[in-house]
Amino acid sequence: MAEQEASGLQVLLSTLQSSGDKDVILNILSVLTDLLSLGTGRRIQYVISKGGSEALLQALTTTARTEPLDHSILLPLLRLLARVGQRDRKFGLKAQKAEATDTILSLARRNLGHHLHLTHCLWVLRVCASNVTTGTTLGINGAMELLFKVITPYSKRHIRTVRAAIEALAALLKSKSNSRRAVSRGYLGGLLRLYQDWHRNDVSNNYIYIRRGLLLCLKHITNIQLGRETFLCSKGMEILFTSVQDCLSCKNLDPIINTVTQILRKCYPKEPLPVVTVRSSYSFPLPGNAKVEPPCEGSEGKWLKEEEAEKDLDSEEEESKEEDYDLETDVNKLRSKAVLDRPEEELGQYEAMCPELSHNFQELETESEEKKSLEDRTESLLSAPSHSIPNATSVKHPNYRLRNQSVTEMGPDPGEKDFKVPLQSWTKKEIRRWDQTDEKRDIAETAQDADSCEDPDRNHVLILRPLPKDPAWYKKTFYPECEALISSIAGGSLDCSDIVTNLLEKHQGDIPFHSPHFYIARAKCVKSIPGYKDLAFPDFWGHQPPPYSKPMLERKYGVQRDKVLDDVRRLIQPGDVIGRTVFDLDEPSHSSPGAPDCLTFFSKFESGNLRKAIQVREFEYDLIMNADVNSNQQHQWFYFEVRGMKLAVPYRFNIINCEKFNSQFNYGMQLVMYSVKEALQGRPRWLRAGHDICYYKNHYRCSAAARQGVKGHFYYTLAFSIKFPHKDDVCYLAYHYPYTYSTMMSHLDILERSRNPKKVYWRQQTLCQTLGGNLCPLLTITAMPESKKRDDLEQFCNRPYVFLVARVHPGESNASWVMKGTLEFLVSNDPIADLLRKCFIFKIVPMLNPDGVINGNHRCSLSGDDLNRQWLAPNSQLHPTIYHAKGLLYYLRSIGRAPLVFCDYHGHSQRKNVFLYGCSIKETLWQAGCTVDTSVITEDVGYRTLPKILDKVAPAFVMNSCSFLVEKSRESTARVVVWKEMGVLRSYTMESTYCGCSHGLYKGLQLGTQELEEMGSKFCLGLLILHLKSLPCSKKVMTQAALLLDLDEEITDRTQRSCSNSSQEIDDEPPCAEEIDYNADSCSDGEEDFSELDQEIQEYLSWVEGKTEDDEVTMGQTCSSKALRQLYVSNQPATNNAGLPLHSAALGVYSGFESSPV
Ligand SMILES: [Zn+2]
Repeated sequence: MAEQEASGLQVLLSTLQSSGDKDVILNILSVLTDLLSLGTGRRIQYVISKGGSEALLQALTTTARTEPLDHSILLPLLRLLARVGQRDRKFGLKAQKAEATDTILSLARRNLGHHLHLTHCLWVLRVCASNVTTGTTLGINGAMELLFKVITPYSKRHIRTVRAAIEALAALLKSKSNSRRAVSRGYLGGLLRLYQDWHRNDVSNNYIYIRRGLLLCLKHITNIQLGRETFLCSKGMEILFTSVQDCLSCKNLDPIINTVTQILRKCYPKEPLPVVTVRSSYSFPLPGNAKVEPPCEGSEGKWLKEEEAEKDLDSEEEESKEEDYDLETDVNKLRSKAVLDRPEEELGQYEAMCPELSHNFQELETESEEKKSLEDRTESLLSAPSHSIPNATSVKHPNYRLRNQSVTEMGPDPGEKDFKVPLQSWTKKEIRRWDQTDEKRDIAETAQDADSCEDPDRNHVLILRPLPKDPAWYKKTFYPECEALISSIAGGSLDCSDIVTNLLEKHQGDIPFHSPHFYIARAKCVKSIPGYKDLAFPDFWGHQPPPYSKPMLERKYGVQRDKVLDDVRRLIQPGDVIGRTVFDLDEPSHSSPGAPDCLTFFSKFESGNLRKAIQVREFEYDLIMNADVNSNQQHQWFYFEVRGMKLAVPYRFNIINCEKFNSQFNYGMQLVMYSVKEALQGRPRWLRAGHDICYYKNHYRCSAAARQGVKGHFYYTLAFSIKFPHKDDVCYLAYHYPYTYSTMMSHLDILERSRNPKKVYWRQQTLCQTLGGNLCPLLTITAMPESKKRDDLEQFCNRPYVFLVARVHPGESNASWVMKGTLEFLVSNDPIADLLRKCFIFKIVPMLNPDGVINGNHRCSLSGDDLNRQWLAPNSQLHPTIYHAKGLLYYLRSIGRAPLVFCDYHGHSQRKNVFLYGCSIKETLWQAGCTVDTSVITEDVGYRTLPKILDKVAPAFVMNSCSFLVEKSRESTARVVVWKEMGVLRSYTMESTYCGCSHGLYKGLQLGTQELEEMGSKFCLGLLILHLKSLPCSKKVMTQAALLLDLDEEITDRTQRSCSNSSQEIDDEPPCAEEIDYNADSCSDGEEDFSELDQEIQEYLSWVEGKTEDDEVTMGQTCSSKALRQLYVSNQPATNNAGLPLHSAALGVYSGFESSPV
């Protein structure tokens, strides 16, 4: 069949090219028309593959040569060409080869007065121009002049012809040389005027396609620098901006508004950021002149032009997307290697970091005794507030979840069926109230040992810093507003030192694992570059998660468009812009805090990073974040304080120097807000807040020079609106739930005190001192030996290691909340935790980048380096925390104790859920399509076990989001280096979303700190199950495990959920409803979608069909009636016109055609 069909088609096509017989040609054309109109795109593709385009083009050139022109053949031929051409990607080139472009142009010229014929020619012209090279040739040969003649001046006559001409012109203008030609001939101004005419006269919106076609012409012309300049000079911004104002409410005008918005964004004059330098306000002198000074700036404008000019050349090349280009395919590089990046002798120093291995029984005993007194004292201080691990089972309703905030009694939660003893059954104790005697004693201790915080070698003892005696310090700590606020609550004026006392008395102390006293003590020891003197209230006071989870924010229709148009309004109506700098880190004198009707900003506190705030309009502010210290980039994280707000007014904030190309803020994520008034009224919490949130590319640029040659010089705006809960409140806004270094240190203080020293072995040591002079703590957590018996001591020493690290990237505060959950679980009284401690020795570095966290960085350390790209060869001077973490791992490996599991906790800004990245040679090679015989490479698939378990036990975790590929660009990350150099099979990066979950129990919800902490505790549970499943266990452990967990049931119960998940591939985020970027190439506006052209042709045909039926025309039997009717109609103008349009019978067809309903 197929062959017969093929040969039949080929006979038809060759006959079409060779035959001189008119009837034969007409018949073939009608057969082809029938063939194509019945079928789908596939049938047209088939005709193309058999040389259909070439045959039709050949027939066209032949027919066009015969005088007089025979339109009865030409018209069906042109229609076929338009239909075939739009689906033939090489049509333009084929047309050029067949020398058909000149033919079409001259046909069009000859038919300028005959609109029906002309329309047919224009359809084909448009199809030819979809190839940029052919379009350029057509432009050189005068096609644009011809088209411009057709579309100007404004007239509603011959609508279809005008439409076809505008669409052909838009296609031609994709060629940048055509665009240049159009600008130099003054067409841009003409197009703008024409657009205005159509806009004004098309009151009932009948000609949207014409208006949009004109906009597409403008859009293409403004892809070149010259076009944008001319557009600006021609008042294009004003014209288009004004024109859309009356369209905004009309949804079917979206194609117009969207194209206008794209043009406006593109043409908005580019500017450098309104800062003296993009370089961070903070610099830090590095040891040993490690880095050169940044190159000078100042030639931004010049640079912008040069760089963009380069792109003005036409290019047919499509961007080749080699997705797996980054995968490591060198098997030798993938194989684990026992290399050492330092002299072996150096490893000896890490022995001291493993006190658990050198402990003898005596030491342990005395230690227990020593601790006993502390323990007793501590326990007497303990009240009994309980803390529960947040658990999915307390979920009541998918969209509004109330949780049991305080589970006080032991025993299984009725909802928790999977565990014999539920996870949340353990209760934790903590210090509720500050004890005056404690304070006095600790002050005395501290006074004796004033430098303890700075001495890295000193064995850690909890030190509470004396409360500062200088009242001014308090004053700075709590601003006058806050002071007034507090005094109003307390009902009396307070002397400064009383403020904190008063505040602390008010503090109910019911925030688990948080103590304001401990926080103040720790914060005083912090060494920051700006020399922080103030505390952010939320970090001091504490955060208690709300009893509900917030669903992801639904994106409001057109939210981005509205914000972009608002931005453009600044240019069009500059008189409305206030433009007042109200906060400036670089030039404090320039800021005008406390001005009337103006918010006051502040962020000079731990993890704060606001650099500049500019009041744009009464309730709108542009904000600029500080770059990472010693760097000029990495803006994403933000944390600042704002005061002096009015009630019930939505304030708009624009963070204008974000750098990631997209953000979860476009997919339902909200920022977080903390209100001091709310906190003082008993609701101390960070809440997801903000509405009308969107994230898009803006008009600010950064020169390559200023970025030291780093590519990607664009900035993005995060725009959001927020209504504050109280008038004249002090509020804090942040990218994500803050978790400062002092928070972590004071948390460790509390953990140490709250653990049961008889059961929990806990050592807090210092891994090293950071560049900034802060201590990087190292924890060792395991179970105390069961007894003094030799066997038990051996078991104690021989437990496998688990090595956990977090927060190498300071902006990823979610990682710290997960780590908080892990730590609290590990020291808890939960029997599962107890068993887990007996199975493993945990080595934990809870914050690998303290300096970055303290100074408000997003990604880097004080050296300006991404520390998670330094693991291959960390520098002991510049990257001490990495150098020593790696050293400790080397040491463990050297004594044959490389960890069973290594995990580095991170946050992921582009994706939802929590997932792991691991390393697999086979999966990498397979994914890269490598020809290497993977059967000879043996690999233990044990790396998949832990993520599989987590998928079952942790509600936020999704196995299908995990990846085990090794990328070249990740070769210096912790995960890859520990896997390769330490030979750790289960070496992972754990990525937690900033946003929420797309799967499982938390589907549709944004994650709160409770869910993040739960992830940390469930990770521990996962480790226990991993141990039970993969390692030989003592009978005792197995018995205990059997009592606690029904492993099989546990796994099967949850498998169903997991299976239903796994059938769904987790794709990346679906494209955002609105274009984040507006580059010429990235804008999808459906131009290439020819379905409209098809529709036009079809409309024409059906109109003709209707017309002929009305005329009751009957035809012969050989062709299908439809085809013949077409022939009949096509014949009419040709036979009756003979070069004179609008004549007799033809007039009927023609004028009817022109006035046919749209
Ligand atoms: Zn990270």
